Amino acid sequence: MRKTLLAVAVSAAVSLGACSDANDSSTTENKTASTEASKDSSQQAKEANPFYKPSPLLYQAPDFDAIEFKHFEPAFEKGMEEHMAEIEAIANNSAEPTFENTIVAMEKSGEILGRVSSVFYNLSSSNSNEQIRELQGKLAPKLAAHSDNIRLNAKLFARIKSLHDKRDELDLDTASERLLEDTYKGFVRAGAELNEDEQQQIRDVNSQLSSLTTEFRNSLMNLTKENVIVVDSKEELAGLSDSQISSLASAAESRDMPGKYAITLTNTTRQSILTDLENRELRQRIWEASSNRGTGNTETDTRPMVAKLTQLRAEKANLLGYDTWGDYVLEENMAGNPEAAQKMLRDLVPAVVSNVESEAEEIRAMIKAEGEQHELKPWDWFYYAEKVREEKYAIDSDEVKKYFEFNRVLEDGVFYAMNQLFGITFEERNDIPVYQDDVVVYEVKDVDGSSLGLFYADYYARDSKRGGAWMSSFRTQSELMNQKPVILNNMNITKAPEGEPTLLSFDEVSTMFHEMGHALHGMFSDVKYPSQAGTSVPRDYVEFPSTFQEDWTLNPKVIANYAKHYETGEQIPDELLQKVLDARNFNQGFDTLEYISAALLDLEYHTVEPGTEISDVEKFEQDALEKNGVAIEAVPPRYRSTYFAHVFAGGYSAGYYAYMWSEVLAADAFKHMGNNGGLSLENGQAFRKEILSKGSSKDPMQQYIDWRGQEPTVEALLERRGLTNPSID
Ligand SMILES: [Zn+2]
Repeated sequence: MRKTLLAVAVSAAVSLGACSDANDSSTTENKTASTEASKDSSQQAKEANPFYKPSPLLYQAPDFDAIEFKHFEPAFEKGMEEHMAEIEAIANNSAEPTFENTIVAMEKSGEILGRVSSVFYNLSSSNSNEQIRELQGKLAPKLAAHSDNIRLNAKLFARIKSLHDKRDELDLDTASERLLEDTYKGFVRAGAELNEDEQQQIRDVNSQLSSLTTEFRNSLMNLTKENVIVVDSKEELAGLSDSQISSLASAAESRDMPGKYAITLTNTTRQSILTDLENRELRQRIWEASSNRGTGNTETDTRPMVAKLTQLRAEKANLLGYDTWGDYVLEENMAGNPEAAQKMLRDLVPAVVSNVESEAEEIRAMIKAEGEQHELKPWDWFYYAEKVREEKYAIDSDEVKKYFEFNRVLEDGVFYAMNQLFGITFEERNDIPVYQDDVVVYEVKDVDGSSLGLFYADYYARDSKRGGAWMSSFRTQSELMNQKPVILNNMNITKAPEGEPTLLSFDEVSTMFHEMGHALHGMFSDVKYPSQAGTSVPRDYVEFPSTFQEDWTLNPKVIANYAKHYETGEQIPDELLQKVLDARNFNQGFDTLEYISAALLDLEYHTVEPGTEISDVEKFEQDALEKNGVAIEAVPPRYRSTYFAHVFAGGYSAGYYAYMWSEVLAADAFKHMGNNGGLSLENGQAFRKEILSKGSSKDPMQQYIDWRGQEPTVEALLERRGLTNPSID
């Protein structure tokens, strides 16, 4: 499952990214007061600092020939100072508030801060170093304070509120109406409408929430250290490769246990080592250590934190006028309320459970075939599933890779498919400076030959880049600011040595299409206001365009154009391709159910009434799973309550369902297009017009309905995951 990063939404004017590790997802809104101390440094760099004025390059692409590390800090200081002065001027304007002098003025504010933030945070992901990390830590509290100083500006809020009160008389177009609504909501959701006592309560709750999530996160780190399974003899490790065994030996050595073997846990219920370990008792030990994490009577018992966090969130939601925390969070998402998200997940349960049952049958047959009598327990699933996979779907991944050479995949696959669908072309621009030699810049040309924007391709792994794959931007499109998009895609493909071809796995190919889907959401953006551009859409919508484009990976016409042997140029054989397809659907019942169970559990916690005290976390969890028909012993939730970091340590509370919500849209959309002519310019234009150009200037479900003619249903998702028996088209 791919993950999202709705990243670093700095000030009104800056970059949004999509797609990456959920755990490091953060929405940072920056803003703040200036300091005396900053004056000297900003004075010094005044003339030369490239962030102080618009870049002279095409579409204000960052001028990496001129940008140096020393420019960042003074530009942030000056950026915050300038932004705050602009905000003060809006708040203190003696003229009556108008949409133009308040809301539009806010959209235009913070130019320097936007410019420096987008470059700095992109480098901190793609090409970081100790200096950058240090400055990032130093800036975080300042930017948080900057944000608070804007949100808690009572005069500013009074202007926004007066406009919102008479919104029906303002004669605004849809996008402007949404902008006013979202701006107003953003302040209200932070507590702007509460009285002083209530605001103090919110601040207290916020501070408790913040320390509890930190405590939960730290406990998980300690649990990872504590929860080491020590094995005395090599014999117990039968089934593992020599290199796996030697890494367990060195893990033990580094913990002062020479001669032994140490197994550490990853933060999901499933542990990949269970696939290979023959020793059933050891498998059980590992699984129990994983599943019982955070329940010991020690400092790392996370159960009280889970209970308290749930209670405090319900309390905060209630203070702000919502029934539950889920209602507060989901109001901003496409689902709109927890019931809609629950319904989507529950609608999937019967089909998914039935697939799990047939997978379990195959596994039980394999247990018998291996001469064993025991029941199927959770610690058996992956061990025997792997044997089923080997028997039914054996696939030589090195052989497959020979048909996925990097340049062919990019140019004859990704660029080709986008050309067939949208008529766009990619022209390399060697004259635009880059931040690292591997990065290639393309100018994207529209179907009529006009220029759309810039696309930076940064596909290769390096030590200075964080893991995963994601899209982000240096500049987002906006008619108001007369700005074209400058977009990036990042991946972590291992580059082949000089002179050798870089060959990709099927997953990497599909990820390349996926990220291009996000990139075109940014590239085709055609909106007036910067804060509504491209991927600045709700979390449960942002993965829709990317997951949709992913599926061209396997379109026969596209495949025929790119999947060619890197030496002979021969097409990938049908039989091999079919194996790739079949292997993709393997174990999807388990994968889908463990995800759905966790997503439903998340929603149960965040729909409790204010004042509910959870005295028994394990019972709450078991009841929640039973209530939703997903309490299946052999398929535990991907995360149990006590180590559900997305929800209790990260920003995904009441939001873990979002991946599946986006995928429902993507699957429904792809199937619909497939049934109506498939890969064609006409289809591409319609999709671009109603979906990809709209950003958040229009309600997402309305965008979908305007294109599709109806709301999506879950059937196509089941087919996409191979959870029914569809004919493959
Ligand atoms: Zn994505």
